Amino acid sequence: MERTILHVDINSYFATMLQQENPHLRGKPIGVVKDEGRTCLIALSKEAKQFGIETGARKQEALTLCPQLLCLPASFERYLDATKRLQKVFLTVAPSVYIYSLDEAFIDVTDCREHLYPDLEKLGKTIQDRIKTELGEWVTCNIGIANNRFMAKMASEVAPKGGVSIVTPDKKELILATTPFKDVCGIGYRLSKKLARCNVFYPYQIRFIPEEELHTLFGPFWSVQLAKMAYGEEPHLLQQIDREIPHMKSVGRSITGYHLYQNPTEIKRILHNLSIEIIEKVRIQKLAGRNIWIGLYGQEGYWSAHLTIATPINQVFELINRVDHLYKQWNHSFEVIKFAVRLSLLEPHQQDQLLPSWQKHESIQRALDTINTKFGRFTARPAAVPPQKELIYPEVTGFLGDKLYQLRNE
Ligand SMILES: [Mg+2]
Repeated sequence: MERTILHVDINSYFATMLQQENPHLRGKPIGVVKDEGRTCLIALSKEAKQFGIETGARKQEALTLCPQLLCLPASFERYLDATKRLQKVFLTVAPSVYIYSLDEAFIDVTDCREHLYPDLEKLGKTIQDRIKTELGEWVTCNIGIANNRFMAKMASEVAPKGGVSIVTPDKKELILATTPFKDVCGIGYRLSKKLARCNVFYPYQIRFIPEEELHTLFGPFWSVQLAKMAYGEEPHLLQQIDREIPHMKSVGRSITGYHLYQNPTEIKRILHNLSIEIIEKVRIQKLAGRNIWIGLYGQEGYWSAHLTIATPINQVFELINRVDHLYKQWNHSFEVIKFAVRLSLLEPHQQDQLLPSWQKHESIQRALDTINTKFGRFTARPAAVPPQKELIYPEVTGFLGDKLYQLRNE
């Protein structure tokens, strides 16, 4: 049986949610920044887009295009809450729902289509209505419907705002021939530039490039992916959704500082702060990891180091020790603006160790977990972290890279 996949994409999600909550913002050009004091516009309202402002633009350039632009900080916790409510709406349609990012989801209706949803256009409209009921009247979405995730996503991309687009065979060829590569899922900025240099702007054009030439130009991986996209088939990026494992493979966290850092004590404190967050997430999911990685980014330079160990760890003291050990290898060749820590090769944590030292640390860790759960994050914490007012708290990212954690069943 042919598959039927819906791709739902909320229009201008972050800005729309702000307008939903504050009616006086409706109809106004809004730019969303990550936080107070940041200048990169991570999202725009539809009104702001009409001024030609693009996502990722700097606040200053945007204000020259649209002086009345309102810049407001994002509220990821609220978006995550709204996404969880969207997930519930989607689960009323079919049991197979995949939340792709905060504002995008795939719903597979293959098995229930025949009996429940003979009219797909009507199904699309019903979902749009249910979203309005759940999140508010200002919230609109595009829905693309096709026989795979790639074409469903392409269809929602090309649908008019708030529309439902069903991919018929004719329409499929048209979409592939008219959607520029920069709007195609999985094609990054660099690849789309390279394609443009070869005079290739639309997926359909790939069909005219002989296989061997494609291979020479784009290498073994991308030549295959591009050939699939040319015919509207699912590339690796979307296919791997089916292979997603039931737990996270790694938990990482990065933060861009407000200024450049030089002082080793301050740098280490930030790395420790990020380590605490990682351990919290890892422990909540009952996982432990064997690979520790740290990365430091300067304005021009970048340095990283990693270490793989035999026994998986999930205690904050263990992670901080390993992070400090890696940090010692750094030669302080630049001032640091961005910090990152990652614990990977995660596996379900089963066997408690018998070593007395491990058991002591585990008791301390459990005491910390209990206190922090009861009285709030960082109530009890290692001493070597930033002072209270500079503590870094967990946040949700737009692409929801840690969805297995954020959307877990509690
Ligand atoms: Mg969207």
